[in-house]
Amino acid sequence: MDAIEVTRTRHGPFERIVLAATEGRKSQLAVYRVGDLLVDTGGTRVSAALVAALRDDPPRRIVCTHQHEDHAGGAMALRRAFGELPVHAPAAHVELLRGFDRVPDYRATAWGHPEPIPDARGYHAGARFPAGGAVLEAVETPGHTPGHMALLATVGGETWALTGDLYVTDRPLTAWYESAADDMVRSLRLLAARPGLRALPTHGAALEDGGAAFAAVADLVEREADRVRAAADRLGTVEPSVLARALYGPEGPFAERSGGEFSTAAFVRSVLAPVRSLPAAVPALA
Ligand SMILES: [Zn+2]
Repeated sequence: MDAIEVTRTRHGPFERIVLAATEGRKSQLAVYRVGDLLVDTGGTRVSAALVAALRDDPPRRIVCTHQHEDHAGGAMALRRAFGELPVHAPAAHVELLRGFDRVPDYRATAWGHPEPIPDARGYHAGARFPAGGAVLEAVETPGHTPGHMALLATVGGETWALTGDLYVTDRPLTAWYESAADDMVRSLRLLAARPGLRALPTHGAALEDGGAAFAAVADLVEREADRVRAAADRLGTVEPSVLARALYGPEGPFAERSGGEFSTAAFVRSVLAPVRSLPAAVPALA
């Protein structure tokens, strides 16, 4: 079994449980606990470590921010350990989760292959999950993938946001192939407008000033979207790989290894042909 380092910290009403693979392909993700509710499950690579961490006080419910293997892939392993916990997932992802059992190798080495969830319960924007004295409200935040949800809790005048993969990096110009740049900007600004936003993403550090971080990324994506459209006019093409090469140079080795799933071509396409529904095609590389 992989060595998984577990780190637990408290953030307002939430416990943040970080699971980091420290050997072989390194990876890092966080799941969040409030009361009897667990938000996201991690992937199957960290399931044994997460089960051990939760064993003394198991959750009774699971809510997933979105369908990806590092967020919902480990749900069935938790159920085998703790009983038939209900799994709530964005309604747009319920059908996908029924058959989601394999991912490309470069993802499987980081997160593990997902296990399908045959009976996930769909929730919609505005759904409320009371837990541990807080109320988590689902806010539709597409951009990383259609149907993505953030879960917000206002406690003592502060808004805590579990933002899943809406914010993964401060420079998302190597983009995920299910992205929509305009949706991402709208979602980031929607959350940034909440006063005193504290953002708790799945990957990377907690953000004390989530408003500033999200506004900066929204500004960057808007500026780059303008450059993409200008290049398309200038070069007379909307082919993502051609425009990506002209603006950002050759794709890096990770983009090649991902077969284009994470690429600058995917960013260009997220501007010119934003993904609004799933499944999405992977853009060709030059
Ligand atoms: Zn994701």
